[in-house]
Amino acid sequence: YRVDFIPLEKIPVWSPSGDSSCKPRYKFNEELNEKISLFSGDITKLEIDAITNAGEKRSIGKFIFSMDGAIHRGAGPLLRKECATLNGCEMGEAKITGAYGLPAKYVIHTVGPIIHDSVGDREEQALRNCYYNCLHTATKNHLRTVAFPCISTGVYGYPPDQAVEVALRTVREYLEQNHEKLDRVIFCVFLKSDKELYETMLPAYFPRG
Ligand code: ADP
Repeated sequence: YRVDFIPLEKIPVWSPSGDSSCKPRYKFNEELNEKISLFSGDITKLEIDAITNAGEKRSIGKFIFSMDGAIHRGAGPLLRKECATLNGCEMGEAKITGAYGLPAKYVIHTVGPIIHDSVGDREEQALRNCYYNCLHTATKNHLRTVAFPCISTGVYGYPPDQAVEVALRTVREYLEQNHEKLDRVIFCVFLKSDKELYETMLPAYFPRG
């Protein structure tokens, strides 16, 4: 069954505001900016090529109240069945499945780092790998529109203000190398605090001219 869905046309392209206090870290590039969206809401409602699911290492689909839970509720039992054939997913890895009852065409599963204490090099690299490998999996499968949630910043405890930098930097760098392979990368924020964080940080990575 298909519930309500949000088509790609309804997801606005990111347009940096002029009054940002954030210093640009990258050069203005209109072509790249046009491929970025900030979407506030439920990732499972997006009618795009692929949504990313931050799952759990051994049994993707275990957490019932997380985003992973929302994805499995929307997709139905066939997704869980396909996940069981994946042979798990290591931290930073990405694996693709069908999306079944969801409006998206595919789900790309990844496993983010768990932060116990503070973020070290290993955790930062792992989070970077999540974003990179999801993008790589998408382009390898000729998928052109991808949405990311705020990976690891929920129960996995990655500080959102540090995670946003990794997310935006990795996507910016990937697009610089592969912009012809992707039409849109959507950052999907669920919490008001994450929306504010992305609105503040986006102009540093995708500045206006
Ligand atoms: P992790 O285990 O990677 O920390 P969580 O599922 O706990 O993953 O949450 C990751 C982020 O996704 C959190 O910021 C959470 O608010 C957000 N989130 C939860 N449900 C959804 C949803 N349906 N769509 C988009 N983001 C969501």
